[in-house]
Amino acid sequence: MILLERDCLCSSAGRTNITYQGYHRACLAAADLVFAVVVLYYWPMISAMIDEVFASVQGEGPWVGQRHIFVRFMGCDLRCAYCDTPDAVKNVSGSEVRNCRAQVSPGSFERESVPNPLSPAGLSGLCSRLRIPGVSRPVMSITGGEPLLHRPFLQEWLPSERKMFRIYLETNGVHFAEMRALAGLIDVVSMDIKLPSATGQRAHWDEHRKFLSATEGIERFVKSVVSGSTTPDEILIAARLVAEQDRTVPFIIQPASGPVSPPVESLILFQDIALEILEDVRVIPQVHKMLQLP
Ligand code: SF4
Repeated sequence: MILLERDCLCSSAGRTNITYQGYHRACLAAADLVFAVVVLYYWPMISAMIDEVFASVQGEGPWVGQRHIFVRFMGCDLRCAYCDTPDAVKNVSGSEVRNCRAQVSPGSFERESVPNPLSPAGLSGLCSRLRIPGVSRPVMSITGGEPLLHRPFLQEWLPSERKMFRIYLETNGVHFAEMRALAGLIDVVSMDIKLPSATGQRAHWDEHRKFLSATEGIERFVKSVVSGSTTPDEILIAARLVAEQDRTVPFIIQPASGPVSPPVESLILFQDIALEILEDVRVIPQVHKMLQLP
């Protein structure tokens, strides 16, 4: 059957190549190529490597004690000496594919092994089964690793999740461009200010300054982990950095756990120093570790 030229994908002339249901072969080949390029371009961007999904008690910062659903993304570009999620720090590229450990129900310690990477729909399914039935709008902690390394995935995934959960971001406070891009999708930001004495890495003052600026208008607080090597000067720099933008932003001093934890006198001294500059400075340890919760 010969069909008219206008039935093809294009509107150009030439009936000689119309051989398949009214379409030029060349047009079909071009359409296939475009489709393949689109699929290859977007497929890796809408999946993410997830280390674990579980429900537990928030153990850090001013929201301590609340019930949260935690989604731990893999990969981090920092290497803090005190890092307590070394497994999640690796694997952002998926080069070493490891399954996601997903809690099966809110009150259970049983976890199933789910193949990575996960699609937005796949991850939503793992989260929704951890919701406690009731009227509350539960909190979902997006943590890691460093979740902001997964910006394309978060842009795709968070709009639907935000209808059901309050989105609480735990971040190393370095990726200011990503924070700016995602600001409209986040309800609460828990931002680290990394102190070189505790991390064993270089300082990130300028990135932290830009990051804090990107969180303006969102509920937020700042947290610094301190160790036995932390100096009063570092606390002063961190506190001034926060005060430059807003002296009411809560500043949490979190003692590192284990052998590098600071002496109690240092904690009091650091709080005194920060309270001369900021309105709300609290010393809060990692409560989930005391309770031996995940
Ligand atoms: S930023 Fe967080 S996840 Fe990354 S290395 Fe430091 S403590 Fe670990």
